[in-house]
Amino acid sequence: MFKKILIANRGEIACRIIRTARSLGIGTVAVYSEADAGARHVRLADEAVLIGPAPARQSYLHAEKILAAAKRTGAEAIHPGYGFLSENEAFAEACAAANITFVGPPAAAIRAMGSKSAAKDLMGKAGVQLVPGYHGADNDPALLQNEADRIGYPVLIKASAGGGGKGMRRVDRREDFAEALGSCRREAKNAFGDDHVLIEKYVLKPRHIEIQVFADGMGNCIHLFERDCSVQRRYQKVLEEAPAPGMTAERRADMGAAAVRAAKAVAYVGAGTVEFIVNQDGSFYFMEMNTRLQVEHPVTEMITGLDLVEWQLRIAAGEPLPLRQEEVQLQGHAIEARIYAEDPDCGFLPSIGTIRHLDLPGQGPRVRIDSAVDAGDAISPHYDPMIAKLIVHGADRAEALKTMAGALSGVHIVGLSANIDFLHRLIETPSFATADLDTGLIEREHDRLFCARKIPFEAWCLVAMNELLTQLPGRPVSPWQQPDGWRLNGRTARRIPLASDGETVTITAVSTRHGWRLADAASPKRTVQAQGRVERKGEAAILDIRLDERRHTATVVEAGDQRHVFLAGRTFVLERLPDLQRTADTHSGGGGLRAPMPGAVIALLAEPGRSLKAGEPLLVIEAMKMEHTIVAPANGRLAGFHYAVGDQVLAGAELVDFQAAE
Ligand code: ADP
Repeated sequence: MFKKILIANRGEIACRIIRTARSLGIGTVAVYSEADAGARHVRLADEAVLIGPAPARQSYLHAEKILAAAKRTGAEAIHPGYGFLSENEAFAEACAAANITFVGPPAAAIRAMGSKSAAKDLMGKAGVQLVPGYHGADNDPALLQNEADRIGYPVLIKASAGGGGKGMRRVDRREDFAEALGSCRREAKNAFGDDHVLIEKYVLKPRHIEIQVFADGMGNCIHLFERDCSVQRRYQKVLEEAPAPGMTAERRADMGAAAVRAAKAVAYVGAGTVEFIVNQDGSFYFMEMNTRLQVEHPVTEMITGLDLVEWQLRIAAGEPLPLRQEEVQLQGHAIEARIYAEDPDCGFLPSIGTIRHLDLPGQGPRVRIDSAVDAGDAISPHYDPMIAKLIVHGADRAEALKTMAGALSGVHIVGLSANIDFLHRLIETPSFATADLDTGLIEREHDRLFCARKIPFEAWCLVAMNELLTQLPGRPVSPWQQPDGWRLNGRTARRIPLASDGETVTITAVSTRHGWRLADAASPKRTVQAQGRVERKGEAAILDIRLDERRHTATVVEAGDQRHVFLAGRTFVLERLPDLQRTADTHSGGGGLRAPMPGAVIALLAEPGRSLKAGEPLLVIEAMKMEHTIVAPANGRLAGFHYAVGDQVLAGAELVDFQAAE
């Protein structure tokens, strides 16, 4: 076995490889770009080498720099992970020339599978079933048009060099073919530097099922069952599961045998995935082979109990396959969800920014999280916006689904948009819940997945309770201790104005013997009796609140005026508005303005002694990297500040002496 390996990747996959290597007693070398100096994979590895600036082309894709790092540190092997250089035959060759083991297949196998057209040709000869289509070398437009007509519409035009869902066009009518061909070629030329295309029959309502294969250097090849990756957006995977729902033992054996034939046809060594497109009746066609470890490999690990990276390293070191086909066991059901920094409601646009707060569910035999980000880390435009992979296991699919729902409820991200709520809605759609799977599932369930969501009254009430219960930190909450309440029918009452997406709701809270009576000020009939507790856990508040008869546990994270509410797997972002009515009231006879949260004073904006108009800025407080401006609550005079720039203030601290005009 190797003494030391270099991991030519970043993020969760780099961390995951380092862990396995360490468990095998192998030393680890990380490489990193300037953007990743503080990244977890760098901290986790035994050694780390800076290889260049943030853009991947100058760092993670820079073969010479990576090879130089391997030589300098004495690494005997390089694991490329997925993406970056993992399917680059020139890199695999350069490793061999430098006498460093490339943890992956021989360069010739990468080359054979690198072009979709050439791979199809080869697979056809090896007796693997292909989607009806044309994958010849001649790309004359008139010939391609003829071929499309012969195949019959709809057809799919695919860039031969394509990948990652790019360079594909569905064409439904003969008259649209020429234009689609042109635009597909332009995209292929731009993205892959090669505009060669192939044409396939567009399979209607297809499923994407892939087989994990493994081969050793002695000519043995087996498969580790299938993964169903039908749930996709823009031809990219969102949820993956194993086994594929509805798969029979017979069909599995057929697909497994076809995948092994495909691997053997290119003298494959190591881990690979043979992807099939599958009709609803179960008939399947070869689509392509990925000559590397896949993002979704953990679902296979969950159902087989095997460590695929360990297998890769053993095979790369020249060992035989650890198991024979009949020794590989399938147990239970696993599902993986990819957690992305993206906004599903805005066409899945990647979301760039800093993660201010991150809670992930606890891990155990049923829940696994592959992640490499911490609160404070940035999702940069340079790399993939994946934040983490959440993988669950259950005795059967129903149990795995339940565990997934529970685990997703424990993922709380503040600072950028993430697809958590979307994933939650997705696993709850009737199609996914009943395993009615095909690649059009997300489109088919569009209305359930993207419908405009109204914020439920409970969410407004929970934020109101958070405000009420956290404004007297450490003290028991009693209606008789409210410092700045106003009186309504002789009782202490508070107003809590909140907003979200243009909607404004003011909650009025009247203290009662056991808690608070909360009401929507605009429609006082919407009212609940509320009581409960709030506990602080770091910057998050954990609420345990009863609203009438229903008990709610929720997490609220404050970021400036924003209140991020995580409630039963859904996320709501509300904004706390200043209560002009109350502050004007409180300060009409002069007095101070209080800090809305703990933080630091970073600017004083008004001059003491001057007259000010309502709304004019007085000073700025910074908390959790968010700025919060305190403004004059009414027309009046600023008598003085109680703090200087740089001072720390506690929540509720009186900041200024402000005298409102009569
Ligand atoms: P990439 O290399 O970009 O991932 P693939 O060839 O693996 O491209 O195809 C990606 C996805 O596109 C598949 O998972 C499937 O959803 C869809 N797809 C590919 N070929 C066909 C086809 N012939 N008919 C219908 N859908 C297809």
